[in-house]
Amino acid sequence: MLIKKKDKITKEYDVIVIGSGLAGMTAANKLACDGRSVLLLEAHNKLGGFATWFRRNAEKGEKHIFDISLHGFPAGMIKTCRRYWSKEIANKIERVDKIRFINPQFEIETDFTKEDYINILVEKFELKRDDVVNFFSELREMNFYDDKTLTNKDLFDKYFPNRNDVVRFLLEPIAYANGSTLEDEAITFGIVFSNFMNKGAYIFRGGTDQLIGMMKDELISNGVDIKLHSFVDEVLIEDGAVSGIRLGSDIVRSRSVISNSSLHNTIFKMTDKKWFSPDFLEKAKEVRVNTSSCQVFMGLKDGESIPDVGELIFYSDSESFDTDLLLSPKAHSQTFSIYYPSMRAHLPQKYAVVSSMNARFEDWKDLDEKEYEKRKDYLIENALSTFEKIVPGFKDKVEHVNCSTPLTIQKYTHHHFGSSFGTKFEGLEVSKELSGQVKGFFHSGSVGIIMSGWLGAANYGVIQAHDLNTYLDNQSTKSNNEVHNV
Ligand SMILES: Cc1cc2nc3c(=O)[nH]c(=O)nc-3n(C[C@H](O)[C@H](O)[C@H](O)COP(=O)(O)OP(=O)(O)OC[C@H]3O[C@@H](n4cnc5c(N)ncnc54)[C@H](O)[C@@H]3O)c2cc1C
Repeated sequence: MLIKKKDKITKEYDVIVIGSGLAGMTAANKLACDGRSVLLLEAHNKLGGFATWFRRNAEKGEKHIFDISLHGFPAGMIKTCRRYWSKEIANKIERVDKIRFINPQFEIETDFTKEDYINILVEKFELKRDDVVNFFSELREMNFYDDKTLTNKDLFDKYFPNRNDVVRFLLEPIAYANGSTLEDEAITFGIVFSNFMNKGAYIFRGGTDQLIGMMKDELISNGVDIKLHSFVDEVLIEDGAVSGIRLGSDIVRSRSVISNSSLHNTIFKMTDKKWFSPDFLEKAKEVRVNTSSCQVFMGLKDGESIPDVGELIFYSDSESFDTDLLLSPKAHSQTFSIYYPSMRAHLPQKYAVVSSMNARFEDWKDLDEKEYEKRKDYLIENALSTFEKIVPGFKDKVEHVNCSTPLTIQKYTHHHFGSSFGTKFEGLEVSKELSGQVKGFFHSGSVGIIMSGWLGAANYGVIQAHDLNTYLDNQSTKSNNEVHNV
């Protein structure tokens, strides 16, 4: 049931899910299917978190739809959606057609599968097949609980020393996606990269609006109560166990809570710190967040088209690969996602191009209005003229342009420092430990890089829902035993 904005919630729930990102929604859906009563509260006016879209009317009244984070995810999403959502959703997930790299070191087209990558590394980069195969074997065998001291730089130096071009080919797509650097733990690169290399990159054909619409219908038909415009201020705890949440002056009672809000906000803003051990708080304080992003959204005029130049283009003007340059406000590097009308075949959709760039929150946070607008204009002009090099005449075809920054991300998702991929490696342990600190209190959402992105977040929702189920089962057994013992 969709609860109206003005309606008060009086029912008591088994679970309250705070936030409707892919982790929150997937957890809510699983728990409802498992027979729990579930309330899903979302601060924004629509579900999805980062899995979102927006519409703009251009001057002539033409409608544009832009996707924020629908660029590519691993094939595993098909299985996750089939198992925890519906086969209709899973069936609309298809492989991204044609992925390209354009930079001063190489121009390559790939389907992003392991076989293709191995062939390119051997034939184009002239590496020994044995080295390449051994590199992929080491990645496949990586396990999250293995050695964490090996960095990406160590890993690449081991197999491909002094080959900046090879590092670019291997790390650039992942660095673009989640801000990974050469200093980060190799294990997270290994797991994320292996997930993609399994079968290539995939996308939901129909657009994010259709996906989230289908998920919303599924949640409601499985009995989840949903309330939008509901920013949860506080998680209530009594005698070390969750007892509900506070929404402004309203209190809603529940036996457990899953927070899909950022890890930082969950621990430091929504909960009274007296319930956490000093060690836990210390560990939580040390958790690093991933970088943020800027995007430029470009919508084409009605009737205009662009040729098939691929769906995903990693473009860079930098002579060599440097993860620091990826983050530069000068935006030497950007990923273009090209949305052809086939993306939304059910709509009279026009072409759209979205440029995404990694960005640092601190480069944007203290700008005065004039400087902020100037930087946005720079990014817009840079995106337009760069794409013009790929499709000559592009600028004249564009009707609508819009730019988002790390501040936009923070505003809409309340993410600490506008982080687009949650926390670095160490966040996962802290997130998992939350339920050990406060009974019935779970966190789910982008942490540790591997539990981030569309697939990681959805899978983490399932994992945490499973643990929460066990908690509620144990609680019921305990209270049954207490009744018998009376
Ligand atoms: C620009 C960009 C591009 C991306 N591209 C890709 C991509 O191509 N492929 C991919 O796999 N991933 C991509 N991602 C990452 C991916 O979108 C995210 O990792 C994933 O969607 C995060 O899901 P989540 O469950 O962690 O929750 P989030 O999406 O972070 O959602 C959390 C939700 O909780 C709500 N909330 C927070 N606090 C409260 C509160 N106190 N009360 C109520 N509600 C609250 C927020 O409003 C939000 O809706 C991209 C991200 C960005 C920013």
